[in-house]
Amino acid sequence: MPAENPTSNIDRPPVRALVLFGPPGSGKGTQAKLLVQCLGIPHISTGDMLREHIQSGDTLAREISRMMHTGALVADEKVNALVEERLAEPDCDRGFILDGYPRTRQQAEELCSWLNMRGIDELVIHLLVDYNSLITRLTGRRQCPLCGTLYNLFSKPPKNDEVCDLDGTKLVIRADDSADVIRERLDAYERQTQPLIEYFREKRRRLLEIDASSDPPQELVLKICRAIRDEGTRINEG
Ligand code: ADP
Repeated sequence: MPAENPTSNIDRPPVRALVLFGPPGSGKGTQAKLLVQCLGIPHISTGDMLREHIQSGDTLAREISRMMHTGALVADEKVNALVEERLAEPDCDRGFILDGYPRTRQQAEELCSWLNMRGIDELVIHLLVDYNSLITRLTGRRQCPLCGTLYNLFSKPPKNDEVCDLDGTKLVIRADDSADVIRERLDAYERQTQPLIEYFREKRRRLLEIDASSDPPQELVLKICRAIRDEGTRINEG
């Protein structure tokens, strides 16, 4: 839990729909988890939902698994359907944090029309990280297969060589964190996702750019919380 919480003592979150936007390795997942503690609204990660779906082992699951293992994006219809279903759950009524969605123009249009129909204004937080840092972060990433704790061999190494500090399980590399797949994921981001920034601007959606390259996660989340609070104040006063 961050020591300072600029959004504590609020009855309702200053934004109902928060979109964490940025390339693979920019820290969207880590920040989303920390923001849940600040804002008290659920974290919706399409990557996690798709990985869960793979466990079902049906034909579609095999196709999803194939796409994810090559670093390509999963079909819009599938992802849109998963997100829509999740947003209909009651815990999203007060608000939600989207991580990894939207990632294509079609997903962005779908989300905007879903939000417009409900009169909800989203806030997009664009996490900016330079290319070399992304590569370092992604290649150093390790995860505990038992409890899910994330480590990084460069910035957050486990105490003992490649085993989880919490339960001693041997850490694993996520299947899509191999060098080739990382390149493909960054490429997909550049071709299909980055252009959405222009789309958000054209549509006059609220967009904040935050330098996410050097602050440790616990400090970065405070910066994001402050930016969200200031944006909320600005909207309420406007
Ligand atoms: P990262 O942001 O580091 O790539 P994620 O867990 O968000 O990690 O995504 C992992 C993979 O899941 C992506 O490479 C892609 O194959 C798939 N995926 C996640 N979100 C989407 C989405 N919104 N649209 C299409 N595919 C997605």
